[in-house]
Amino acid sequence: MAEIIRINDRISYIKASNKPLSADVGMIEGDGYLWLFDLGADESVSEVINGINKQKIAVISHFHPDHMGNLDKIDLKEIFLGANTFGYAGRGNIVENDVFTDDGVKIHIFPLPSSHAKGSVGMEIGEYAFLGDATYATMKKGKVCYNASVLKEEITVLKKLSARYFLLSHNEKFIKSREEVIAGLEEIYSKRDPKEAYIFV
Ligand SMILES: [Zn+2]
Repeated sequence: MAEIIRINDRISYIKASNKPLSADVGMIEGDGYLWLFDLGADESVSEVINGINKQKIAVISHFHPDHMGNLDKIDLKEIFLGANTFGYAGRGNIVENDVFTDDGVKIHIFPLPSSHAKGSVGMEIGEYAFLGDATYATMKKGKVCYNASVLKEEITVLKKLSARYFLLSHNEKFIKSREEVIAGLEEIYSKRDPKEAYIFV
């Protein structure tokens, strides 16, 4: 059975799994709603969430099945997602600009440029920012790489966040310091060849 791991009085998460491949699922207890960051794909995750007696709102980081596989298994009052993810989900509010809302906790939903998946979305709650897989690379011609201009935009967006901790899905160390994540991406960006669109890592 999926286990809920608590971060603070409002924020907790269900850890990612490999079999089936299922992303970390963030859970934020608002005064009115349970806010979910990603839905995972593991059935036991949807069972745990459905067992919580509160209306749910989901923010889906990107369209990959390990992040939204449970979409039709969880009753959602509202969904926030990127335009590309909307193409797969077929419903929800498309996040094109920053969304700020207050549900007893201040919630910030934002578009996050990403080499990993076009139209990624992140979510910031106080000290913590859920980033999904947005800081990860993609594959071109069988090689792992970042799109240089997208990476630059991504670093700019991340630097504007006020959260001290960045939460990266599938990572053994789920909670990382913002400095560590930004420094890692800046190091990759520093290796770019100005003549090339992609940085192979
Ligand atoms: Zn993933």
